[in-house]
Amino acid sequence: MTAPYTGPTLTTITPGIEANIARVRSLCHAEIMAVVKADGYGLGAEHVARAALNAGCTWLGTTDVAEASQLRRAGFSVPILAWLHPAGLDVETAEASDVDIAIGSLEHLIQALRRGRGKLRIHLHLDTGMTRGGLPAYDWHDAMHWAAASEKEKIFRVVGLMGHLPNADAAEPSANDAGLRSFDVAHKMARKAGLTFEVRHLASTSATLTDPRTHFELVRIGAGLVGIDPSGSTELNPAARLTCPVVHTRAVSEGSPVGYGGSGTTREAGFVSVLGLGYADGIPQLLDPEAYVMIDGRACRILGRVNMDQIVVETGEWAAAPGTEAIIIGPDPGEPTVQHWAQWGNTSAHRIITGLGQRLHRVASTKQEETI
Ligand SMILES: *Cc1c(COP(=O)(O)O)cnc(C)c1O
Repeated sequence: MTAPYTGPTLTTITPGIEANIARVRSLCHAEIMAVVKADGYGLGAEHVARAALNAGCTWLGTTDVAEASQLRRAGFSVPILAWLHPAGLDVETAEASDVDIAIGSLEHLIQALRRGRGKLRIHLHLDTGMTRGGLPAYDWHDAMHWAAASEKEKIFRVVGLMGHLPNADAAEPSANDAGLRSFDVAHKMARKAGLTFEVRHLASTSATLTDPRTHFELVRIGAGLVGIDPSGSTELNPAARLTCPVVHTRAVSEGSPVGYGGSGTTREAGFVSVLGLGYADGIPQLLDPEAYVMIDGRACRILGRVNMDQIVVETGEWAAAPGTEAIIIGPDPGEPTVQHWAQWGNTSAHRIITGLGQRLHRVASTKQEETI
């Protein structure tokens, strides 16, 4: 018999994700696509997708067809959309796996109309202000007429009209005016070309929470699933817990140098503990001196630079027994959040959550295990 695993563990808090979708549903009557790119924003694409569908999402979204077809193989039967095609347009896999693809350039449209065998479902992806992916406005007319002609020949079906708003972190709806105007122009142009759409979709988390004009038939929620509101307008539920046991504890005097080059110094005589995780697990290396973890309900400050696999924390007069669980990220009051780590590491909550290392042991929790 092997001993139960007790090392660093990343828990996907399923009820947190479900509560976040319930929140979105209270603000928005459109269908909801759960965006689970980057392995479900670091929390496991399948865990996050399952929780999101349980809570009422009816679509899944990924960056590429490979991620989408993996979800299909895992048994998800709802429509799945993939919008970036870094390895070229994989029409064959998209058709075989029943994955919708967004077409964001004339090159990709030509590939789709040459290789579609009738089952392919496409969404015309417009540039609505990002100057990143998406058909530039000067190609809309051609794209819509070619798409309409190919649809008549039953090469593919055009099911969606898609845009992405550049002001994804603005809580001010007027920031979406230009994007909304160009989406409307494109929609009229498409109707004239003879196209109709099952779904139009423009909003991601921030616009969904702040600007109902952007909802149309479908919204795409990624960060919001895992408790990050880029607009800063809405309190969402944390969806991650990261814990790690104390490996060693030792006594120290005040002013002891800690770590390489003495990058830290103990503030008082007492105890320090070593935790077995580090920047290779996604913890930022350079942190604000206020950065802390929770051990036994006490906030324990991190000393010195974060190492590849180790962190040293100061516990004061109290000595943490080896094996005591430290909470690195937690949902309960006082526990460090993804947002705290972003602030301490001078980065974004998105980067913290998607950067949590693949070697962490990963589990998903259920309602019974959570107090939410
Ligand atoms: C990442 C992404 C989303 C989700 O954005 P969030 O702000 O994380 O909700 C939606 N649509 C596209 C095209 C994306 O790339």
